Amino acid sequence: MTTPVLVVDGLRKHFVSKKGFPTPRTVRVRAVEDISFTIHAGEAFGLVGESGCGKSTAARALLRLIEPDAGTVTWKGENVLTAQGASLKALRRRMQIVFQDPYSSLDPRQSIGSALMEPMQVHGLAEGKEARRRAAALLEEVGLPPAALDRFPHEFSGGQRQRIGIARALTVEPELIVADEPVSALDVSVQAQVLLLMQDLRKRRGLSFLFVSHDLSVVRWFCDRVAVMYLGRIVEEGPAGRVLANPLHPYAQMLRDASPIPDPARRGVLPRIIGEIPSAANPPPGCPFHPRCPHAMPQCSVRMPGWTQAAGDNQGGVACHLHG
Ligand code: SF4
Repeated sequence: MTTPVLVVDGLRKHFVSKKGFPTPRTVRVRAVEDISFTIHAGEAFGLVGESGCGKSTAARALLRLIEPDAGTVTWKGENVLTAQGASLKALRRRMQIVFQDPYSSLDPRQSIGSALMEPMQVHGLAEGKEARRRAAALLEEVGLPPAALDRFPHEFSGGQRQRIGIARALTVEPELIVADEPVSALDVSVQAQVLLLMQDLRKRRGLSFLFVSHDLSVVRWFCDRVAVMYLGRIVEEGPAGRVLANPLHPYAQMLRDASPIPDPARRGVLPRIIGEIPSAANPPPGCPFHPRCPHAMPQCSVRMPGWTQAAGDNQGGVACHLHG
């Protein structure tokens, strides 16, 4: 295995607010609860789960777009969560994000050229004509003509805007891209083009990816390893091939069974995912999945399962009493 670049250990993020009238009470939403994983150089690591499981919050917290409450995040041994000033700026250059909605992540009044040149100027990489030359080259790299520099976001389709979002992430020559549901707002045919582009960039530039998605078929295709999140926690982690084909955790099995497989021989009605994800403000005791789990045992509603390594080398692990 290659060198670890990003190490996330015990990351936690709660949101606290006051609710109710006339006597407001404090509500604590446990969005991310003690998650740990490692991304290696050139690796694509997937974070998957239903919407509301905390995967996007985890991605934003490790980049400090929102400040986490606890845990450590290190980039090549450097502590991201305590970095300040110039060292934080340098770390941010190494890790860039591509958002789900490319339209709202672009300023409608800013030309594409200006949006691409600005980060280069902020990080002291290029100015003036050189910045413009680099921006044009980036547009060509993501499959858009240099003439797009003088146009505005509303003049582009969703897929083209996502290409611009990717080009903007590349302006500061990052080593890790956090892609937060990067294709879920796009039509299926456009999704494939954008995924191929990201795969090509990954190989050509040696990029690592943290790929956040609810879509298992996309993660299956793009990622080397994957972690399945449920109610703010990682419940299973391991090589994408193993976790998505033969998951150990009942929740991961449910996600797999509800995910379409592109095989005409296996056509049929997909099973539905049973029940709804409980509120992260009031998580169930014991295993958080026990109210929905078809294999729940008496101990599941009282005791949180520990982490058990899966059999075999580098096959990851699972948090479930069935395997403890
Ligand atoms: Fe199901 Fe129990 Fe495993 Fe939780 S610990 S997933 S409830 S079997």
